Amino acid sequence: MLKVKNLMVFYENMLAVNNVSMNCDKGQIVGVFGANSAGKSTLMYALSGIVLDIKKKEDMRGGERITLLGEITFNGEDVLHLKPSERAKRGIVLCPERRRIFPESSTFENLKIGGYLATRVQAKETLDYIFSLFPALDSREAKRRSGGFLSGGEQQMLAIGRALMAQPKLLLLDEPLLGLSPGLQLALVKAIEEIRDRKGISLLVTEQYARPLFPVVDYGYILENGSLVLEGTSQELISNPDVKSAYFGI
Ligand code: ATP
Repeated sequence: MLKVKNLMVFYENMLAVNNVSMNCDKGQIVGVFGANSAGKSTLMYALSGIVLDIKKKEDMRGGERITLLGEITFNGEDVLHLKPSERAKRGIVLCPERRRIFPESSTFENLKIGGYLATRVQAKETLDYIFSLFPALDSREAKRRSGGFLSGGEQQMLAIGRALMAQPKLLLLDEPLLGLSPGLQLALVKAIEEIRDRKGISLLVTEQYARPLFPVVDYGYILENGSLVLEGTSQELISNPDVKSAYFGI
């Protein structure tokens, strides 16, 4: 489904993503684990195409030079130079780090905005699905509340819901568990698994720590200073002593 080969992203001369090759197959949950500044968000921007928007903005204001090299194919099609909206149409949808929901818009409006690519029937079905997946959003009061007044957990649910409204085939989740309590993390990990199992959507998820997400990950990569240093099945990764101490805290 998604195949990445020798991907490089430079911010001027700074190499933020270094020769990354990775795959995500249909129906898989793939984890990318890395510390602060490892390059997780830059990788997600490159996969979703947002890096092209950032590059254009920088070029227009005469700012830093951003260079993108390598290959990204999705279902056999080269998407490296496609705009984020074109990639979204093909099913690659990003749910960015720190939620980025519209704080002044209500829960319901946030979800509607996400559904701009959906038909009426799809939008209705997906809304019903989101409210069954995240019952915390499913009250008259919660639907009307401004996004900015939702709790951190509810905002994350809304951000994932908004991404689901775009009818993804591959959902990119950038640090979805960041700043959430262990209980909420568990609920979100269950939701991630449910999205894969029920909707057949593939998920590529970045996190700093592997432990909460690990039970549902089919395949994982370890990203350090922009490079993939290790990859494998959950079993292979957890049996590596360095990974165990750095990403599991054990
Ligand atoms: P975090 O967990 O803190 O979000 P991350 O793994 O997502 O980190 P990135 O945000 O991708 O990491 O950053 C990777 C590296 O690229 C960092 O050294 C960061 O300082 C640098 N970087 C990110 N954005 C820019 C930019 N616009 N210009 C220059 N350097 C950048």
